[in-house]
Amino acid sequence: MISKHCRLQKAQFGKLAFFYLLFVIFYLLFTLMTAIDKQKIAILLDIASERLSSGYHTAEKEYLFTDDEPKERTADTIEQIAQEIKVCRNCPLWEKRTNAAPGEGVLQPLVLVIGEGPGEDEDRQGRPFVGRAGQLLDKMLDSIGLSRKTNCFIANVVKCRPPFNRNPYPEETAACANYLERQIALLKPKFILVMGVIAAQSLLQTTDSMKKIHGKFTEISVGGMRIPLIATYHPAALLRNEEYKRPAWEDLKLLHSKF
Ligand code: SF4
Repeated sequence: MISKHCRLQKAQFGKLAFFYLLFVIFYLLFTLMTAIDKQKIAILLDIASERLSSGYHTAEKEYLFTDDEPKERTADTIEQIAQEIKVCRNCPLWEKRTNAAPGEGVLQPLVLVIGEGPGEDEDRQGRPFVGRAGQLLDKMLDSIGLSRKTNCFIANVVKCRPPFNRNPYPEETAACANYLERQIALLKPKFILVMGVIAAQSLLQTTDSMKKIHGKFTEISVGGMRIPLIATYHPAALLRNEEYKRPAWEDLKLLHSKF
């Protein structure tokens, strides 16, 4: 009788020790996680709980995890920025996105191309400039010896698609600006080529029209670097209006004359 009681106590103690160990492991893992990791886990738990409750969909929640200590910027990589963008909810554009399009191309590019934001094709594929306008952009770049495969990186001012391809609102651009600044600081491009008036106005902090902005270089300052920037018409505008092709070609030639 006594030995049976002892065995029961041992089994209960074993169970308690097991759960205590699990708790300690989970606690240690949780304290080592970044805010982004915690957010991903919370979203996964949400999805699992919805599946278990036969598809009942709970209201979207805002997770406000913060990192205990700011991470050193030296740990920043293009991939890490892309991972943050993919789960970002810093502005309302995340609600309707299928995929964010963080950007793609080579590191330390000769030219960083910056557009306005993803469209329908970009949202579907999670890549920048892949629709009709993107194909035209690739041809324009090719005409002056540039390519996203060899010497360019392509990004946008906002990384998630504005609904119905509307222009991003200033507050959405402002919310996303930190990602682009970090990308520029890491990529250290020799030149920046801006496609379209919305991106140009946002980067140059101006309300001037493209007619006034294009055709000349301006320097912008990012992370202590001064980078020559030239803006031209967006490929989508060239597809709509033949008149813009000549000035856009002149802008590309001007850029080409610098390298
Ligand atoms: S557009 Fe930028 S700031 Fe807004 S949710 Fe997407 S990544 Fe975040």
